[in-house]
Amino acid sequence: MFFFIGGIQPKTRQIDQERRMCPSCGLYQARLKRVDHYISLFFVPLLKVKEGVPFLQCERCGKISPESEGPVAAEEALRSGNCPYCGKSIEAGFRFCPHCGKSMV
Ligand SMILES: [Zn+2]
Ligand SMILES: [Zn+2]
Repeated sequence: MFFFIGGIQPKTRQIDQERRMCPSCGLYQARLKRVDHYISLFFVPLLKVKEGVPFLQCERCGKISPESEGPVAAEEALRSGNCPYCGKSIEAGFRFCPHCGKSMV
């Protein structure tokens, strides 16, 4: 009996109110969301069993994209003086990494 009314349900949560750029249409209409899984009973979520990976969902075009941390992480790595590709330290102003040869632009 219990097992027919209880179960694990996905639940979509909006993480914050900030609008982010949608990589698909370029408009700031994407929201950061996450799908968590809850154990539910009588369709009421009781206990979070699995926390989802954040993703962007655009309210305009509906496109779902992975949270875009790539370019930001690369920029931060560059600012700290390390190559975002191989992690070795490089001097500011280099257009190419002297260690792995990747473009820094
Ligand atoms: Zn979009
Ligand atoms: Zn490198």
